[in-house]
Amino acid sequence: MNKKTKIVATIGPASENGEVIEKLILAGVNLFRFNLKHNDFDWHQNTIKKVREIARKLDYNIGTIADLQGPEVRIETFEGKEVEIKEDESLFIGPTTNSNKTITLNPKEVISSLEVGDTAFIDDGDLELQIIGSKNGVVEAKVEIDYIIKNRKSLNILKKTIDLPLLSERDLVALEMIPKIDPDYIALSFVRTKEDIETLRSKLKEIGATSKIIAKIENSSAINNLEEIIKVTDAVMVARGDLGVEVAMGELAFWQKRIIDLSRKYNKPVIVATQMMQSMVHNYHPTRAEATDVANAIFDGTDALMLSEETATGDHPFKVIKEMNKIAEFCEKNGVAKSIELKLDSTTEVLVRAAANIIKNSGQFPIKAIIVFTESGNTARILSKYRFKIPIVAVTNNSDTVRSLALSYGVMPLIQEFPENQFRMEDPIFKKLINFEFIEKDDNVLVIHGNNWMTAGQTSDISLIKV
Ligand code: PEP
Repeated sequence: MNKKTKIVATIGPASENGEVIEKLILAGVNLFRFNLKHNDFDWHQNTIKKVREIARKLDYNIGTIADLQGPEVRIETFEGKEVEIKEDESLFIGPTTNSNKTITLNPKEVISSLEVGDTAFIDDGDLELQIIGSKNGVVEAKVEIDYIIKNRKSLNILKKTIDLPLLSERDLVALEMIPKIDPDYIALSFVRTKEDIETLRSKLKEIGATSKIIAKIENSSAINNLEEIIKVTDAVMVARGDLGVEVAMGELAFWQKRIIDLSRKYNKPVIVATQMMQSMVHNYHPTRAEATDVANAIFDGTDALMLSEETATGDHPFKVIKEMNKIAEFCEKNGVAKSIELKLDSTTEVLVRAAANIIKNSGQFPIKAIIVFTESGNTARILSKYRFKIPIVAVTNNSDTVRSLALSYGVMPLIQEFPENQFRMEDPIFKKLINFEFIEKDDNVLVIHGNNWMTAGQTSDISLIKV
């Protein structure tokens, strides 16, 4: 497999079957996302186990992401019935539902944060509401189109911070399960500040979980605190579903590029998510716009692309991965990802810059792969920033490092027990890579290492090796 952009597939009824999971991995999936908002926790536990068994059988390194629901706002209708509303009619939002034109919100305290002049959206942005009045705790809103409002749909408020607890009740129950399923990553929905990440990190520590944290950027508070959030998180997601509603659709592409740039600046892997191949939930081919969107995310410099409904409930999960994989392979080979300022703030960065120069100037001795021996994964992440056209194999004896590299562009993490502290070039890793058909005998490879491969931050040597 030559693809360097990582593909994240959300798992669901369309992809939970063992044969489908295997086909998706072989077609290019690198990580599976478990959306804890849906299904019961037993299902998540069993399915994550199944994914790991299949990955082990195939000898593939497949990552897992558990996605917490976060402080979502949902509407509740009168007796759970549909509410039919016409253009320019008023919809009332109050603490109780007493007629078919009144809805309430869960959690209820959100109602009091709605003010005259606010814009809110129901059902992932489909129905726009203008708040025009408020009396005795009941808010009046005008709708702009005829619409049938269904129970339990989402509600988002444009550019407004609502003070809700970071973790929903369901999240708190889910967290109890986390040490048992031990996902590589936990995605935190509706992050607002760096403190949200720090709170989750200390909760994970308390329960003995070592999962890395993905900050889902999906509201205006996260946009306002973007740089400080990216600095403290382990990875980032451009969660375009909610972001497209909470910051206005016309701003979405701008923020996608800004989030990717900042994530690359701080060396944090970044995922572009939601509606990348939406029409393929039913159709057999992507639209031109979707194929272009996927390509543009790669040219923007994303590390990973994520599919939601397309693989969770869609009609053609395997075909979606094949299409995405094809676009990624072509764009990586023929295009150039947006360049970013690459700093030289550490000796490792100086060494990686030297490696980049060797690769660029290798003339008639083309280099086929970079093999980096890494304890913390830091050198591999810096290498990833350069978006080389050759693969980076990150060899480590630290399983925590393997998980932290699962999302990084172009990096294939490989676990290897090191027989001793001192680095030796003739390590069996080369044989292993030849057996995997990753490199061939007589290939030139660049090896980056330190003298003691169990110590982080000691990378000191580059060797050009003919295998
Ligand atoms: C999103 O809003 O884009 C997203 C990925 O979050 P979720 O699928 O959990 O709603």
